[in-house]
Amino acid sequence: MHLEAKADDQAFREEVQDFLTGHLTPELRQAGQRTMGICSPHEASQAWQKILYAKGWAAPSWPVEHGGTGWNAMQRHIFATECNLADAPMLAPMGLDMVGPAIMGYGSARQQAGYLPRILSAQDSWCQGYSEPGSGSDLASLQCRAIRDADDYIIDGSKIWTTHAQHANRMFCLVRTKTSGKPQQGITFLLLDMESPGVRVEPIITMAGNHEVNQVFFDAVRVPRANRVGAENEGWTVAKYLLEFERGGRAWGARLRGALANLQRLAKARGIANGGLSQRLAALAVDVTSVEFTEQRVIAELSKTGRIGPASSLLKTRACAVLQAISECGVETIGNYAAPYQPKASQWGSNVDAIGRADELAVVGRYLDQRARSIAGGSNEVQRNIMAKLVLGM
Ligand SMILES: Cc1cc2nc3c(=O)[nH]c(=O)nc-3n(C[C@H](O)[C@H](O)[C@H](O)COP(=O)(O)OP(=O)(O)OC[C@H]3O[C@@H](n4cnc5c(N)ncnc54)[C@H](O)[C@@H]3O)c2cc1C
Repeated sequence: MHLEAKADDQAFREEVQDFLTGHLTPELRQAGQRTMGICSPHEASQAWQKILYAKGWAAPSWPVEHGGTGWNAMQRHIFATECNLADAPMLAPMGLDMVGPAIMGYGSARQQAGYLPRILSAQDSWCQGYSEPGSGSDLASLQCRAIRDADDYIIDGSKIWTTHAQHANRMFCLVRTKTSGKPQQGITFLLLDMESPGVRVEPIITMAGNHEVNQVFFDAVRVPRANRVGAENEGWTVAKYLLEFERGGRAWGARLRGALANLQRLAKARGIANGGLSQRLAALAVDVTSVEFTEQRVIAELSKTGRIGPASSLLKTRACAVLQAISECGVETIGNYAAPYQPKASQWGSNVDAIGRADELAVVGRYLDQRARSIAGGSNEVQRNIMAKLVLGM
């Protein structure tokens, strides 16, 4: 792996830039600019994924045999960075970055053939059913029960904080199939159809005013046994494997680079980029670069060993802290214009006039939403425990 851009890389960068110029419509760019949470507006993200799919670029990190691009680590980094700098909508991670790799790693040939092409083409939208009320950090204590009935499992219970469950037609979830013994050894990994009878989705509105997360209820929901990934009671292994991709395989460096460029634009537009804010911006730029380098190390490890490993916890914790610092600086940059509450004007596609500049509309929502970054995907404290144990050997 090399870390400096070479001449070939520059040609590749230009190819990506040309593609983005030709295919990112103003509406799609606005969806990227108005993204506050983990996901961009669902319709925009799906539309953009279909455009990338038609070009063969929907899943750069996937192996070529499953529809990946065959790009090297530097090309993938360039692509993700250019997409972020151009304000492309983010692609929903639950399918491409989370359950996709888990199905490749642990799914049967039949599951791979059935699910992976539909993830790639954005025909299916996925959500993640891990957390439960009372089982977040202590995930292995989960209680959502699945009982075998001939060729089906019957699920009763609930999942919470389920991102974009309101848009998803599929969920990957962890269920309890054994109550005796070690809690980790009684968990099974299932794939379910969100349109199955007995599934109910209730919204949870965040402090940023967004409907991004939900609580999902299961009332005697039948799931065919064929939808189980891995063996019964061995879902914990699949779950942990998937979490490494959730924390480490998310192009954090590129995302931070895009967020920083956005902040620099805001500061310039307010005429303070070279004044009081310049030192802050420079310090943030150093932080972003350090995350990019850490990410390249993690990617190198992945290509060597096939596993992202516990360094994913380091990357996630650090990247989220920098993302939060950038969003905080954004609020300070727009000053008084952070005060007006403008939930309607700030929505994607809204034609309500903004108070202040239109490109500042997502700043406060993003700042509020980024607070959740230290919890979502595993809280900072728990990530530090993982690092202490598995990275430092304490
Ligand atoms: C925006 C958002 C989106 C999410 N999306 C999803 C999703 O799509 N699917 C899904 O399944 N889940 C999702 N989650 C849930 C997320 O994974 C959990 O919130 C997270 O794992 C923490 O669990 P908890 O909320 O139950 O907090 P708790 O586990 O109750 O933790 C509360 C506090 O105690 C601390 N703590 C707990 N245990 C320890 C320990 N051993 N040592 C030190 N400190 C500890 C934590 O760090 C935290 O500060 C999402 C969460 C958020 C905020």
